[in-house]
Amino acid sequence: MSEHKHAHPHVTPTQPVPTVGRVVHYVSHGSPVLPDGSQMYRPECRAAIVTTVSNDSDSEQTGADVSLAVLNPTGLFFQENLRHSEEPVGGSWHWPERV
Ligand SMILES: [Zn+2]
Repeated sequence: MSEHKHAHPHVTPTQPVPTVGRVVHYVSHGSPVLPDGSQMYRPECRAAIVTTVSNDSDSEQTGADVSLAVLNPTGLFFQENLRHSEEPVGGSWHWPERV
């Protein structure tokens, strides 16, 4: 008798597991925050395609680390091991907002 030791990942409707080829949002880094709290350039969502997904099982709760091909208006760039964040933190990814 073989027994599966892998637990099913807990997937909530709002937090699907990312897979290669899915389109997510990457948050660009804004310019440094000025003394008065304003920013010349605010962090912005960019469309990005998932290129790899980390197999780190510890990341289930926070959303897996992914690598992305980021589609900027002026060109592509590639980022590795990005963490998930629902907050618009520069350098993080999230699922595209439903509008
Ligand atoms: Zn977004």
